[in-house]
Amino acid sequence: MQRTKIVDALKRTDYGADVNIKGWVRTRRGNKNVSFIALNDGSTINNIQIVVDLAIFDEEKLKTVTTGACISATGKLVESQGKGQTVEIQASDIVIYGGADPETYPLQKKGHTLEFLREIAHLRPRTNTFGAVFRIRHHMAIAIHQFFHERGFFYFHTPIITASDCEGAGQMFQVTTMNLYDLKKDETGSIDYTNDFFGKQASLTVSGQLEGELAAMALGSIYTFGPTFRAENSNTPRHLSEFWMIEPEVAFNEIEENMQLAQDFIQYCVKWAMDNCQDDLKFLCEMYDKELIERLKFVIENDFVRLTYTEGVKILEEAVSKGQKFEFPIGWGTDLQSEHERYLVEQHFKKPVILTDYPKEIKSFYMKQNDDGKTVRAMDVLFPKIGEIIGGSQREEDFQKLKTRAAEMGVPEKDIWWYMDTRRFGTAPHSGFGLGFERLLLFVTGMTNIRDVIPFPRTPKNAEF
Ligand code: ATP
Ligand code: MN
Repeated sequence: MQRTKIVDALKRTDYGADVNIKGWVRTRRGNKNVSFIALNDGSTINNIQIVVDLAIFDEEKLKTVTTGACISATGKLVESQGKGQTVEIQASDIVIYGGADPETYPLQKKGHTLEFLREIAHLRPRTNTFGAVFRIRHHMAIAIHQFFHERGFFYFHTPIITASDCEGAGQMFQVTTMNLYDLKKDETGSIDYTNDFFGKQASLTVSGQLEGELAAMALGSIYTFGPTFRAENSNTPRHLSEFWMIEPEVAFNEIEENMQLAQDFIQYCVKWAMDNCQDDLKFLCEMYDKELIERLKFVIENDFVRLTYTEGVKILEEAVSKGQKFEFPIGWGTDLQSEHERYLVEQHFKKPVILTDYPKEIKSFYMKQNDDGKTVRAMDVLFPKIGEIIGGSQREEDFQKLKTRAAEMGVPEKDIWWYMDTRRFGTAPHSGFGLGFERLLLFVTGMTNIRDVIPFPRTPKNAEF
């Protein structure tokens, strides 16, 4: 008989029909006459109840049907007597695919801490929490493609291995096939890469933006969505060494349109979650964060506040003068720390904030320079509980200005000649941004540690599984 997924079975009303369900046992309870198995197959957070009449089943065999075991159950779909469920299965046949010894299976019924579950990341998708998180992760990926596709953006694949280190986004992981036990060096003591696999030093990408810009100058509106790597030693609840980033890049967009795109994009994704992940969100809301759904609604319904970095710093300085304490000093010219970003969002505006026009010294060489000579057309989107969720900018389209700025910031032109060509040939105003996929997921799921929204987190000193 063909298997029915639990998500579909729970919607059926053709009582009396024969169905087959396969899944993992969450619990088994009962008495000497009847046994109730709560079965889950991952298709939904909801379990289906399998009712086993012990008059027709060998009790000995049922002994191995314990939490974590995998079974196939065939029987009649019946209207449920118990509350909290609509249908259940009156079992006529049970096949046990695999037991799970209660002495050694780590996921028993009792609640586990998220920290413990991180240590068994190979099993944690079987919990309600991580089932919910990973289903939402899937839906968010679909929402992202849908959003851009509906707007005529093209999904563009930028390389994961790169030989350019000019993004300035942080430390890179090197990619090499050289024998590390026997490194060849030249007279000056530098490593000779000419014999390495790519004939030069190569790394894992920190951003697809530069290549994304090349594509925008041809296809008009593009986005990337792929893995991104940063070798920074930042052990925070918001940083991963391997994460996924979405980077739209749009020809002819100026910063205002870029801000609007960012707002529309996040609101679309959050609404998608509300429309497609109700059961999982309800669970996470009840278990972890009572205000989660309210917060999601709020973000969909309210415009993001827009203000300049200079105005933001003024607000923060006023707060400090009124007694607000920050760990890091604040003043025009310094980069904002997460605590500053969160103060603006959570305490001051109580809304998502888009900060623009940052000092050029703390931003990358490619950002469009403002006429004041001091700031660039950067924009960061700041979110409650997270801080920066998006970083972007209008790009400098003027060849000469870009060349000068790259030189000032020590970016060798020989490394970005291909990037400079976009400004040499048919340059155009354009803008884009990068959204950290896992930061979006933190917001949507209400989880507080980024290690809990990616299946197998990579962080300093941790690449298990
Ligand atoms: P932060 O200041 O928070 O370290 P950043 O300014 O270095 O971030 P960008 O280079 O602007 O980050 O990258 C664009 C987006 O990618 C960020 O807004 C964030 O959402 C995400 N992001 C950046 N670094 C990480 C990381 N290590 N782990 C997860 N997401 C990240
Ligand atoms: Mn940034």
